[in-house]
Amino acid sequence: MFFFSPQKDFIGHTIAHADEPVQAKHSTLTDGAEVTLLDCGVIRFEPNTASKLSLVISCGVHGNETAPIEIVSRLVSDLLSGEVTIAVRVLFILANPWAMAEDRRFVDLNMNRLFCGQWQHEDLSLKEVKRAAGLEAYVANFFAEEPVTVEQRLHYDCHTAIRASARERFAVYPFVHDRLLPEQQKVLLASADITTVLLQQESANTFSSFTSVKHDAQSFTLELGKVMPFGANDLLRFSGIDLLLRAVISGEELPSSSAEGIEEFVVHHTLEKSSESWKFHLPDNAPNFSEYAPGSLIAEDGSAQYLVGEEPEYIVFPNPGVKVGERAGLMLRKLRK
Ligand SMILES: [Zn+2]
Repeated sequence: MFFFSPQKDFIGHTIAHADEPVQAKHSTLTDGAEVTLLDCGVIRFEPNTASKLSLVISCGVHGNETAPIEIVSRLVSDLLSGEVTIAVRVLFILANPWAMAEDRRFVDLNMNRLFCGQWQHEDLSLKEVKRAAGLEAYVANFFAEEPVTVEQRLHYDCHTAIRASARERFAVYPFVHDRLLPEQQKVLLASADITTVLLQQESANTFSSFTSVKHDAQSFTLELGKVMPFGANDLLRFSGIDLLLRAVISGEELPSSSAEGIEEFVVHHTLEKSSESWKFHLPDNAPNFSEYAPGSLIAEDGSAQYLVGEEPEYIVFPNPGVKVGERAGLMLRKLRK
């Protein structure tokens, strides 16, 4: 693949150039689409037809979450070779080259806490802090340069999880005041076998929050399965998202899906480690979305207890090892239809 030579693909090029300046590279593909490598791990495709959509596909914000990185790299190769045609504007981002190279979640700081300008409050000499600032700028430019034909912005930030989950795949929908999850987006998620959505109820500093809050995109953090090293992924388990991305990019019809199967969850209670004597009553390795019946004892601190209320609740992101005063997990309720 001349675009990335001497490396063979987007992953190889990104890892090899983690610490070198990358010259912007431009080319026109056989179908007339324009492709520009903007930076290490940042590549943009513009179709030569009127595009109605600006699509951002990011992965590798956590460098060891390899399956989406492999899927994106393969997709970029297929676009460059002309195997997949381009009907919409796309910006692909492999977000954290240093962590990818070391097969680690992050090197200095969790990048998915650095967006929405949070990087300004961190040590700007750190690579991940500078990178978060740079990625915000690339995304802002991508949206600012869109033609008037564009009607919608969409961002999928793709992850995999260390923790087991009672629901293999789920989406997190960032909080934007007074916003509801549109039916059209539910249908897209359902087509990728993502039928569980956690609706955030407060603003966060994630990459998907940045694009939705600052740029009015429909954005999702997608948790697509389990963390595995490069080459050890069963990519068949990720075929849903692969097909969805390919269909959206080439403007193809998706297999008809219904939004009916989507289950939405909201945070009912934030578990906080209130003191050193705070005690967590679930196993430390409780899978995300484990369900607990009314009355179940979840946590206690002296005479204060947290019991599940009158309807079932579901734990996500349990982490009893946090410092006093920090969040130790979220208790969710299913939104009634
Ligand atoms: Zn992640």
